Formats: sequence, C-alpha cells, structure tokens
Amino acid sequence: MPFTTTLLITTFLLLLCFTPPSSSFPFSFPSNPWSLFQNLTGCNPGDYNPIIPNLKSYLHRFGYLPSPVSNFSDLFDSDLAAALLSYQRNLGLPTTGSLDADTLSVLSLPRCGVPDITPNSSGRGRHLYSYFAGTPSWPSDKRVLTYALTDTSSISIDRRTLQNVFARAFARWSAATTLNFTEVSPPDSDFADITIGFYRGDHGDGEAFDGVLGTLAHAFSPTDGRFHLDAAEAWVATGDVTAAEEENAVDLESVAVHEIGHLLGLGHSSATEAVMYPSLRTRTRKVELMKDDVEGIQGLYGGNPNSGVDSMRRSSPETSGGVPERAAVTVVALVATAVASVLTEFVL
Ligand SMILES: [Zn+2]
Ligand SMILES: [Zn+2]
Repeated sequence: MPFTTTLLITTFLLLLCFTPPSSSFPFSFPSNPWSLFQNLTGCNPGDYNPIIPNLKSYLHRFGYLPSPVSNFSDLFDSDLAAALLSYQRNLGLPTTGSLDADTLSVLSLPRCGVPDITPNSSGRGRHLYSYFAGTPSWPSDKRVLTYALTDTSSISIDRRTLQNVFARAFARWSAATTLNFTEVSPPDSDFADITIGFYRGDHGDGEAFDGVLGTLAHAFSPTDGRFHLDAAEAWVATGDVTAAEEENAVDLESVAVHEIGHLLGLGHSSATEAVMYPSLRTRTRKVELMKDDVEGIQGLYGGNPNSGVDSMRRSSPETSGGVPERAAVTVVALVATAVASVLTEFVL
C-alpha cells in the first residue's frame, strides 16, 4: 500500500477516534444555534454545567435575566431558576422550574427576536396577549397604513411571490380590525409607514441576525414601522411547507403574520396556539389569527364590523367572561439603540 494512502487512512481513523459525537459536543457549529440546550437534560439547581452560561445568555437576550456584573457563571443558581419559571409561564409550559424535556424542546426552537419581557419589569406571571411598554399604537386618524418591500436583494424569492405573501399576511390583520394596508412602490416607498427587508448578520440596528434558525425576524413597535427578516433562513413562500425537503424550512407567511402583530403594537403571547407566540417550529404553517390575537389587536383598534373574525370572537364561550387580563407587562420596544445594545450583549 502506498505511503500516502496509508497516511490518509490513518488520519481518517484518528479523526473518527477523537471527534466527539455532535450531540454531546457543546461547541460544535450546528445549524440551529440553540440545539445545544438539549445537552442540559438532567441538569438541576445547584449543578454546574458548561452550557449554563449559554442558557443564561439566551434568557437575558429575551428579557428574563438582568445583565450580570461579570460573565454568566456555569452554576444553575437561584436567579436562573426564577428566570426559568418566568420563561415557562410566558411560553405556556408547565411551570416545573426544571429543565424538563418540554422546556428544552421549546428553548431549542427558532423564534422571533423581539424579547418577551423587559428586564426587571413587573410583568412576569402574565398570560395571553401583551402590548409593548406604554401601549404604543398607530394614531386614530391613521387607519390606512402603507407598506413597502424595501430590501429583498439578499434572497432568491422573486418579488411577485413576496408581494403575494405579505399581502395575504396583512389581509389577515385587516380582517380583524379597523386597519387597512396598501403596498406602495418607489418613489412612494420612501414615505411608507412600514418597511420590510431581508438582512444578514449585523444590519445596523443593534439586533444582528444569527444565520440559519435561532432568531428568524424582528419588528419594531408603533410607529417605527421597520420589519426585518433574517436572509439566511430557508424561507418557504409557496407550496406546502410541511412537506418541504429542507428540514430547516421556515414558512414566510407565518413569520410575516407574527411580525405584523408587533408592527401594530402587540407583544408576545403565552397562548401556544396564538400567532403572537414567540417560537415557531420549522416546516410549520401558523397563519390564522386565534382568539387571543384577535382580542389583543381589537383592544388597540376595535373590531372590524364586517369581519367573520369579529363574530367568531363574540361567539366564543371563552370570551363571555370578558377580556382577559391585559399584560401589565412591557415587552421591550426595540426602538432605543442603547437598550438594544444591552440586550444583545450576551447573545449566543
Ligand atoms: Zn415576536
Ligand atoms: Zn433589524
């Protein structure tokens, strides 16, 4: 056997011996940056684990832990336990306070980049829909909002297809409220109320995208109007996303419906079926406004009297007891760059 062939085989065998399996190696580079949380199975309060700082960074990123004096430690401490309980309440999980299988599964899901709660807010323990801090909304004399696709050059989906997706997503909200939406093109797009663009990595607003999965998109509270999507995602704009070959496929219309909710003033909901729930599974379509979404948006703008959505809401037995408690919670508005930079300080 030639020496070079022997060397190659030996090298290959050595690599096999010394390359740990990806499931147990916390610092590999999976396509999903949060799949490493699965390695926290069995980790309990008082335990030390090298992935705990990553979990604390995640919970800090989405508003559950304040910024530490120094780096996050690898101890499962009481602050983490409290943050975990709050996370479980906000994500509609059983409040076990432990890193159970359901919690680790949801932690690993791709999600919206908008935080769930403001650090140090009194809103923990909330349920169902929420509004941003100060309950911002579009002014009452503005019931027709214009939107524009301003930056789509970084993805391969054609513009016509994108226009159809976003038009359908906006129509779902206008059916439930007194708002209407009109797409505008250049030069009117310079003055659009809402601008939609796809970006990679750091795109200048302190909320850098993180590549495939992780955060999928984010949008700013009224009346900012900016809606940004991570160009690195495997976006599906046509066809059946549940049958997509790409395991990381993300349904564009589902994310669009969710982010439009933010643009109109809704924060995240802990109702798992709501479109305003923070996380979205891959190869999943979730575009229908649920009762919780409808109640939330109608609390800001009133109902559309011609809408089946409105009558659905009235006929629902769950609404007969009145509007659910509105979140005293303040979901952070990403408008303040200073706040945003603090929030991203410990992003994974
Ligand atoms: Zn969101
Ligand atoms: Zn952005």
